[in-house]
Amino acid sequence: MILIGPPGSGKGTQARLLSKRLKIPHISTGDILREAVKNQTQLGQEAQAYMEKGELVPDNVIIEIIKERISRPDCEKGYIFDGFPRTLTQARMLDRIFKEKNKELDLVIQFKITDESLTKRLSGRLICSKCGADYNLYFKLPRVEGICDRCGGNLLPRQDDKKSVVTNRLKVFKNQTKPVLNYYQKQSKIKTIDADKKSENLNQELLQLINVEVNPNGLPEKQSFPAESKEE
Ligand code: AMP
Repeated sequence: MILIGPPGSGKGTQARLLSKRLKIPHISTGDILREAVKNQTQLGQEAQAYMEKGELVPDNVIIEIIKERISRPDCEKGYIFDGFPRTLTQARMLDRIFKEKNKELDLVIQFKITDESLTKRLSGRLICSKCGADYNLYFKLPRVEGICDRCGGNLLPRQDDKKSVVTNRLKVFKNQTKPVLNYYQKQSKIKTIDADKKSENLNQELLQLINVEVNPNGLPEKQSFPAESKEE
């Protein structure tokens, strides 16, 4: 499954929730790259300059990350991509990888959101420097100011949430990632969700959309991912 939406549309939070519910990994290229930058690995050093400007990291670098990640055993039963693919080249390369592996993409979920909500989410966003959990000064405060509820790490704004960088990231989304939506539209793989909602409501809607029935313990009883093409 692929989640696509502009930066700040909440796809990371939803991908984490879905990953827990469906017990399949959440693969965020942004998280992988941030970790690499933090540890100053070769990948991190290569990616850093692009990320600081809000530009995309080159396709070949991203594809290598993805190939390595999905070849791990925890990916055998499927996975959720968040922030990938972001260009037409990445989408085409992913199709090729699936073909080689004899796998099929089930579903692409488009997160639609107004510019007003986006600005609030990005300007208020805080990330735990230790575990990556996200908070927001407008609607998701931690219990103790500046401290992560989950692991006690320090909460900091993301470097690329600065106003000038955000403007560029949104421009990059419009120019380079929107064509990816058309690409999947043509394959009848897309379902759209109104991402202006609160996180809990959005999650409920998302679960209904992908047709996951949940028993009282919160564990999935039945799951299927009906793409629009399969419903028709
Ligand atoms: P994200 O956390 O998904 O917003 O990603 C943060 C930054 O990482 C982006 O602004 C890009 O610089 C880089 N990045 C993440 N995913 C990709 C991708 N699929 N292709 C190119 N660059 C990416």
